[in-house]
Amino acid sequence: MAPAGDPKLMERVVNLAKRRGLVFPSSDIYGGFRSTWDYGPLGVLLKRNVKDAWWRSMVQLRDDVVGLDAAILMAPKVWEASGHVATFTDPLVDCRNCKERCRADQLPESGACPNCGSKETFTEARNFNLMFKTHVGPVEDDASVAYLRPETAQGIFVNFKNVQTTTRKKPPFGIAQIGKTFRNEITPGNFVFRTREFEQMEMEYFVPPDQAPKWFEYWVAERHRWYLDLGIPEDKVRIRPHDSEELSHYSAGTSDLEFAFPWGWGELEGIANRTDYDLTQHAKFSGEDLSYFDQENDERYVPYVIEPSAGADRSTLAFLLAAYDEDEAPTGEGKVEKRTVLRLDPRLAPIKVAVLPLSKKDTLLPLTDEVAKALRPHFMIDVDLAGAIGRRYRRQDEIGTPLCVTIDFDTIDDRAVTVRDRDSMAQERIPVDRLVDELRDRLGGAC
Ligand code: ATP
Repeated sequence: MAPAGDPKLMERVVNLAKRRGLVFPSSDIYGGFRSTWDYGPLGVLLKRNVKDAWWRSMVQLRDDVVGLDAAILMAPKVWEASGHVATFTDPLVDCRNCKERCRADQLPESGACPNCGSKETFTEARNFNLMFKTHVGPVEDDASVAYLRPETAQGIFVNFKNVQTTTRKKPPFGIAQIGKTFRNEITPGNFVFRTREFEQMEMEYFVPPDQAPKWFEYWVAERHRWYLDLGIPEDKVRIRPHDSEELSHYSAGTSDLEFAFPWGWGELEGIANRTDYDLTQHAKFSGEDLSYFDQENDERYVPYVIEPSAGADRSTLAFLLAAYDEDEAPTGEGKVEKRTVLRLDPRLAPIKVAVLPLSKKDTLLPLTDEVAKALRPHFMIDVDLAGAIGRRYRRQDEIGTPLCVTIDFDTIDDRAVTVRDRDSMAQERIPVDRLVDELRDRLGGAC
């Protein structure tokens, strides 16, 4: 098993990601582009499965949360009201020696420049706003300035009234959204951990003010459970409450869920008690009344908001790192060889079932076709014809495919196939007629 904190783990996972089409450097043929990444054929499936698992647990399985898909471009006043224009900044310093730009709050304890090692050569820290600015329409003047959203949350706050009145939801209730977010990070890095374009999975949960502490605790526990349920081991995820200096301007309490990345603990998700800050600000700036009238108790209030805010890319990376393993597998000739295996939860695995004819001989191809056609509507499958069967198992193991179905020459007569399990490597003969039900059972409903 790859040990915790293994410095080679990150390198192995990044190599696997590139080699198997999970994640490529963006604009690769031009030498890449500043820590941006593209999700390839398997990566798009993995990340989509992460987002689907989030949506299922946050929206589908609850009757108190609804979804939203707001625009990335919003009225610039939104960002004035939210405080982002004034305070969404990181402290920036320049090294006078090598001109490297760094975040002042992320310098090593030695105070030396992380690029050239020289000491005490930094300029005074100045605030650098992380929002990407652009212009809407053909004229580039102050009146046409717009921002790419630096969080999806504001799209939810400005739709609070629309959603509440159309769905007739009463607090406590939530609005969930998944979408692209942009931050002009000073020092992106660590693969998809910190990039300038990423996806957030955010939910704003509107509650009566006196219930905020209770719901804050509830969501910290609920979100912690989500990572464990999808296979992150307990000792690799921790809850870290912010101390008072660290709190954002809008927060009355924040706890981060952190993962043990190979370089140390890193944030996966923040759960914040945003109080009534955002709704009050938007009411002030827009002139709209964003309070809620509670008929049962005959009282009007501005709801408090509990926000679990997660990153789809960071959790995808955490799931990959937690799943990466190396062990030994039989070659079929009485020997064993090393294998790489992603022990992904079947719900996250990009491919659920691989269909593998034992040989490429024509006699097996019609049956392979028949089995593939029967499985495709139910599961994401891959048909792999190329190479020795042992090598094909290895290829599926390293992308985390939970089950392989092998069609051999006996299948022609007995209409049964061999189902092989990724983790135990156990094999069992299953009749083709029962295959869909059997695979569904083994995958626990993952499709
Ligand atoms: P950090 O302290 O790491 O910069 P943050 O506290 O600014 O993160 P939040 O504003 O709480 O992050 O955003 C919520 C989530 O969005 C984070 O927990 C993370 O998963 C994700 N996220 C934030 N910034 C980035 C980024 N630059 N690249 C990838 N994911 C990010």
